[in-house]
Amino acid sequence: MSRLIFPSRFNGDVKAFFTTRSFGVDVKKISKLLSIKKENIYFPIQQHTDKVLVIKSDLEPEIADGVVTQRKGVLIGIQVADCVPILFYDIKRSVTGAVHAGWRGTASGIVKKTIALMIEHFSSSPVDIFTALGPSIRWRCYQVGVEVKDVICKATGDGKYFVQSDDGYYVDLSSANRRQALSMGIPEENIWISQECTYCNPKEYYSYRYEKSLIGAQGGFIGIL
Ligand SMILES: [Zn+2]
Repeated sequence: MSRLIFPSRFNGDVKAFFTTRSFGVDVKKISKLLSIKKENIYFPIQQHTDKVLVIKSDLEPEIADGVVTQRKGVLIGIQVADCVPILFYDIKRSVTGAVHAGWRGTASGIVKKTIALMIEHFSSSPVDIFTALGPSIRWRCYQVGVEVKDVICKATGDGKYFVQSDDGYYVDLSSANRRQALSMGIPEENIWISQECTYCNPKEYYSYRYEKSLIGAQGGFIGIL
């Protein structure tokens, strides 16, 4: 039995969930589960960029690590294996978004860019936006070099999202991205965070650092179907 994770407060017309290892990003399974055509499931071509795409009528995959849309009947998805899968939902304007944030995306403020785009393009108000951060590698499982810690801090500002110890720095990308969402005006109570760590649960999740290679991915999906 495949476990799916449904963040609380993503209710109403929206379908929003994170998958685990057994479910992965299997388009066939997702299409069956939601009774949606495979061609209406959209994945961007992820390359650790800070590019956020607005999907209108064209569903041709493009290079991006974030997608936002007001289109109904389209499920947008992103793939991760340690990086943070992040979902957005503007409950008033029915805008959905999905973002992939690794350290590069976090350092380039992809979450802030996504929220800014929702405000600019769809006239979203941050108070109407709900955000969910799915399972990712956390805290003591994610050691980074000082240069990575520095660029993440530059993009994120104050907050508790890294620790320093004798052997270096450890970053919690989820907490850093939560910080970035808060800085854009999203209320604290609108943010849901998974407490699971992908590296600590390699049976449940694909973890790039645990496997030492990319052998598969779980996903974050959202759509008004
Ligand atoms: Zn862990």
